[in-house]
Amino acid sequence: MEFHEMDRAQLLETLKTDSLQGLSTEEVRLRQKQHGFNELIEAKKHSLFFLFFSQFKDLMIMVLLAAAAISFVLGEWIDAAAIVLIVILNAFLGFYQDRKAEKSLEALKKLSAPQVQLLRNGEWTRLPSREIVPGDVIRFSSGDRIGADVRLIEAVSLEIEESALTGESMPDAKQTEPLAVANPNLADISNMAFMGTLATRGSGVGVVVGTGMNTEVGQIAGLLHGADGIETPLQRKLQQLGKILIVASLLLTAIVVALGVLRGNDFYTIFFAGLSLAVAAVPEGLPAVVTIALSIGVQRMIKKDAVVRKLPAVEILGSASVICSDKTGTMTENEMTVTHLWSGGHEWTVEGAGYEPTGRFFETAQPVEPQRVPALYQLLQYGMLCTNATVHQKGQEYAIDGDPTEGALVVAAMKAGMTKELLKKEFTLVQELPFDSERKMMSVIVQNSSGKFFAITKGAPDILATRCNAILWETEKPLSVEKLVGIEDAVAAMAHNALRTMAIAYKPLTPQTTLFTEEAIEKDLVFIGLEGMMDPPREEVKTAIQECRNAGIRTIMITGDHAATALAIAEKLHISGANELVVEGKEIDTMSAEQLQVVVEQASVFARTTPEHKLRIVQALQQNGRVVAMTGDGVNDAPALKTADIGVAMGITGTDVAKEASSLILMDDNFATIKSAIVEGRNIYDNIRKFIRYLLASNVGEILVMLFAMILAFPLPLVPIQILWVNLVTDGLPALALGLDRPEADVMKKKPRDPAESVFARGLGWKILSRGFLIGSATLAAFLIVYDRNPADLPYAQTTAFATLVMAQLIHVFDCRSEKSIFARNPFGNLYLIGAVLSSVVLLLVVIYLPPLQPFFRTVSLAAGDWLLILGLAALPTFLLAGTYFFKPKTEES
Ligand code: ATP
Repeated sequence: MEFHEMDRAQLLETLKTDSLQGLSTEEVRLRQKQHGFNELIEAKKHSLFFLFFSQFKDLMIMVLLAAAAISFVLGEWIDAAAIVLIVILNAFLGFYQDRKAEKSLEALKKLSAPQVQLLRNGEWTRLPSREIVPGDVIRFSSGDRIGADVRLIEAVSLEIEESALTGESMPDAKQTEPLAVANPNLADISNMAFMGTLATRGSGVGVVVGTGMNTEVGQIAGLLHGADGIETPLQRKLQQLGKILIVASLLLTAIVVALGVLRGNDFYTIFFAGLSLAVAAVPEGLPAVVTIALSIGVQRMIKKDAVVRKLPAVEILGSASVICSDKTGTMTENEMTVTHLWSGGHEWTVEGAGYEPTGRFFETAQPVEPQRVPALYQLLQYGMLCTNATVHQKGQEYAIDGDPTEGALVVAAMKAGMTKELLKKEFTLVQELPFDSERKMMSVIVQNSSGKFFAITKGAPDILATRCNAILWETEKPLSVEKLVGIEDAVAAMAHNALRTMAIAYKPLTPQTTLFTEEAIEKDLVFIGLEGMMDPPREEVKTAIQECRNAGIRTIMITGDHAATALAIAEKLHISGANELVVEGKEIDTMSAEQLQVVVEQASVFARTTPEHKLRIVQALQQNGRVVAMTGDGVNDAPALKTADIGVAMGITGTDVAKEASSLILMDDNFATIKSAIVEGRNIYDNIRKFIRYLLASNVGEILVMLFAMILAFPLPLVPIQILWVNLVTDGLPALALGLDRPEADVMKKKPRDPAESVFARGLGWKILSRGFLIGSATLAAFLIVYDRNPADLPYAQTTAFATLVMAQLIHVFDCRSEKSIFARNPFGNLYLIGAVLSSVVLLLVVIYLPPLQPFFRTVSLAAGDWLLILGLAALPTFLLAGTYFFKPKTEES
């Protein structure tokens, strides 16, 4: 018998599981051993061997290998061996870095992997979907991806989109009854849900019947999605720059060789000179350092609860100029408590905070017993009936399972002595029409103990009121204009106090055999009353918004909530001043795209919006040239999240669809985390600029030394192997340490970076050229001074030049910590940098003084006196450029 043919009892029996308790930890361990993790085996990963050899594909490496081959043929064994050695060293470094980058991408994937709700040991828990085993009881709702193949045992208005398996993009309605057909088409199995498909409406509970490769999707190969965006725009730009430099260096080499031949020099000398220039022009270590800096930045973000799904987002974050954020849960605590109630002109308050279900009720400061006030009792009871949330005690604390808005209604009713268990004895749930953010309401159809059917609808009061034609006001009365004003006043009073408002209504029904529809139910209702709940703003959000403002980043609140509630919270968070313009979704509907473009620049609060409005707001802001970060959690938020420059999904309350559409996930759902991610994003970019400045100044210096020497017909001041060593080894470590630098104090006081600006913008290009010129001149000077004294000992002069180049760079690196000046921050504040510089100095001494290495690096041991000359010349550029700092007008510094 197949799973779709079984009834509930047969299913539970076959899979040896319990629909109320789920599996026990012990049982899960056994089953995991037997079935393995719930994972689809991906295409075979690249072997380590492949990864190592792919390092040699790089064009520059090929040029170097060709050079080694030529040296070898010409009998210059030592040069050939040295070049090969360095290339292999570089390949190892590249290999190690690639592995690290791949590992951190994998870790990221794991962090953003979908979570599922499983019933284990009698409790619902959230776990990564790889933990699912056959027999697990699993629960999901609209927006969730189904984690395994599941036979349904509960389905409430459940619809599932199965296009990944069937190609059919219209969602299928699901139910729980057994099907009496053998071998049906997948699309016809209405009582099962399959791994990788998407719940688009309603909710369901099921028993897992297949996991991992043992699922329908596991049997189809090639369905797996590839990893998202691996390269950032900057990395691409740098790769282009790298290619240009390689071509330029080859051209330069060709010219030098041609000149040499014309002059009648011997081939090896010419070839050697050309090679030196080629090596000098290309910053071999740069791409690796960029990759590492990015991946370290991503790790830092994770520590702050921000998980990057798409690497390019790291860079774009630094340019964000507007953050559009939801209110509920992102700017507020999402811990709701009903504090005010209203029905038929009466108003009550209720004590208590959080979800603890104790508190007294008052009417105008007089305690009341809700059991004795029919209107209040019915409001609370119907409010509880129309929810899915449950409250449970965890130690001393009370927690809810489900939507906090609904949790608040349940807790309020419990304060009046009701419980869900007691209500279940009196009322049977017949059908549910789930909440969605377009309708802003939900309904249940229930049957009471005397057999009567009726509907209860709850939702946004301003919308629900338009669906009512009567109201409970002592008795049932027509909903006159006067009574409507009564409702509006009560809503306004609650909303001005920052309360979130919920209206409850009902209507008697005659039973029918088919399902009830929203159109039929949610009209001609009887209005019962209002519940107002507080949801305090998060403490840290106010400061985060202020910091963003200082950083030239605007915050816009876009919420489905009532305009007055939204405004009251916005004022508490200082998003807006008093009298702020609040734009409602229905007003956006009347605006043209151009009008909206104007409005988004003026208003900071948008209320009663639907996900479609979010999309239009993002587009309008982008039209205005803004770089937009947009938060979202629901299924319908996906288009806005995809369109935004940085889509930000909620880690806790977000649906899988929202997470898949976004590039950043907030593990704690907190607005303040977006700010922390922006700080990191800006810092990463600043750090990348720092080491680009550092590394390229070195290359410019090297090219100039070599070019000057060639033009003036001196011997070569540096040999290729020395240049290669500087670029890869002595520059590599300090550059990495710059990549680890902490943000500068003013990182959130600057305007957002223009996303179109070049890496060399804001004077960086000039800094590189001027410093490169000074480093080159110092190196050449060191060479000429020593060469002039000992023309017979070329390696002595070359070693001096080599040491000067390295030391000038190692002093320069401290300048690079700030773009303002070496005095802008403590130059020795980065311990990694001190370590890196010290080890680079040791490495330099090793190649100069270690006898076995001397023939490879063409070095000779230097005397103490030589170091005076070397250090003096090497420090000169920093002193010269630092001096100019004091003569600059101070306004330029800000
Ligand atoms: P944000 O968009 O900032 O997250 P929100 O949670 O208020 O705010 P929605 O979830 O779209 O946005 O809710 C909009 C309105 O719908 C709420 O103001 C409330 O009146 C109503 N509402 C919210 N949740 C429910 C629910 N479970 N049942 C019925 N109505 C609800």
